[in-house]
Amino acid sequence: MAESMPTAVKDVCDVDMLVNSFMERMITQSPGEREFHQAVREVAKSVMPIVRENPAYRDGKVLERLVVPDRVLIFRVTWVDDHGEIQVNRGYRVRMNGAIGPYKGGLRFHPSVNLGVLKFLAFEQVLKNSLTTLPLGGAKGGSDFDPKGRSEGEVMRFCQSFMSELFRHIGPDVDVPAGDIGVGEREIGYLFGQYRRLSNCFHGAITGKSLNWGGSHLRLEATGYGAVYFAQEMLATKDESVEGKIAAVSGAGNVAQYTAEKLITLGAKVITLSDSGGTIVDREGIDLEKLTWVIELKNKRRGRISEYAQHFQGVEYMAGKRPWSIPCDLAFPSATQNEINEDDARQLVQNGCCCVCEGSNMPTTEAAVDVFLNARVLYGPGKAANAGGVAVSGLEMNQNTGCMRRSRQEVDDQLRGIMRSIHENCVKYGRQDDSFVDYSRGANVAGFIKVADAMLQQGAI
Ligand code: NDP
Repeated sequence: MAESMPTAVKDVCDVDMLVNSFMERMITQSPGEREFHQAVREVAKSVMPIVRENPAYRDGKVLERLVVPDRVLIFRVTWVDDHGEIQVNRGYRVRMNGAIGPYKGGLRFHPSVNLGVLKFLAFEQVLKNSLTTLPLGGAKGGSDFDPKGRSEGEVMRFCQSFMSELFRHIGPDVDVPAGDIGVGEREIGYLFGQYRRLSNCFHGAITGKSLNWGGSHLRLEATGYGAVYFAQEMLATKDESVEGKIAAVSGAGNVAQYTAEKLITLGAKVITLSDSGGTIVDREGIDLEKLTWVIELKNKRRGRISEYAQHFQGVEYMAGKRPWSIPCDLAFPSATQNEINEDDARQLVQNGCCCVCEGSNMPTTEAAVDVFLNARVLYGPGKAANAGGVAVSGLEMNQNTGCMRRSRQEVDDQLRGIMRSIHENCVKYGRQDDSFVDYSRGANVAGFIKVADAMLQQGAI
């Protein structure tokens, strides 16, 4: 049967078989880690043809090594709440791969955090960091602690307890955490304070710090701005721009806020934001004044996005819903993983969405990615599109080492340059015969080659 197949079809079948048997082994070795399996499968599909053709990668078992973390740290985080009751959480740091530089990747505080989620995030981080062109390995950490509804004192005591264990494992040349879901400026402050107290050192072991004690200009804005810069690059390949486009943004946290801000500044109309309770739809457009209100709501008052619909006139609130049923030209998922399923993707395509740019990590399910690729939508995967955050973190590390600070303009120029070069790399490795660019494949292959080559050069470790 296989012998009568056209060569191209047989080739695809061979790659599918290799991916399936690789995944079977991997799932047996790390059972139950659903998100991790999903992330690995997506990458394995892209890089398997290269591994198959390259004896050094194949015999060097690079892919097999890449899916086993260099080291995993799991620890107990005990703290006392405002009622004097002892609380116990789990703390994690997954160091996935350090072949190209010190480990770098955020900390997530959310009740959904478990080992599988952090392994997926750390795995994505390895390839993302490789794409940035900076010498950074990949890691991720966090806890199942939920800062929502906790007092300032509780959040501080939790952060101090978390860092009381983590501090002995991190450092500017070893492992440099940053923020992620549930870890913003406030948490970074408490974490760094405890790190400084215990280590007796003031150096750049954490990024995302405040500007007046070692932080970099634009770190807060970098992931959102970078995602929009990446979308601009993708749109430019079609002689399009974001100006005048209608944009749907999900989330209302750090990434969503600065994605929305940059889009508004560039002349797009942002009509949605969301949180885990639901979505607001403001068809008039969220302007900079309304966005400032959202930032105050989320970062200071710690309120719910539903309050936006009560505060501003003519706004619809869709409880328990995501934004993707609302017609838009551009979609910026900026909340969490698997927030766009196959039905959402079909709906977006049907409504004429031409560009999906991922601020969040792995927001699109495997089936939904296929919908976008088949419809020839410009699809920017998170590991490329949201790399602006870690890129500016890399610049922050560099500034800390040199005891200096670059201006806002300098950092912005560098961020734009890095997003442009990530885009070029994705095009280089993702362009297909019909000249459509599969950015997902491009990002996976470009990110993989750099790490794989470093691993081979460093021997069988
Ligand atoms: P924040 O905690 O600042 O904001 C997260 C937002 O997503 C909140 O609005 C939150 O709503 C919503 N959200 C979280 N979980 C869910 C869920 N299960 N269902 C629906 N909504 C949810 O995090 P960030 O903005 O920093 O991160 C957002 C995404 O971007 C994540 O995927 C993160 O990994 C990714 N990312 C972040 C970077 C950064 O620099 N911060 C860098 C690169 C990627 P609620 O408040 O109700 O929980």
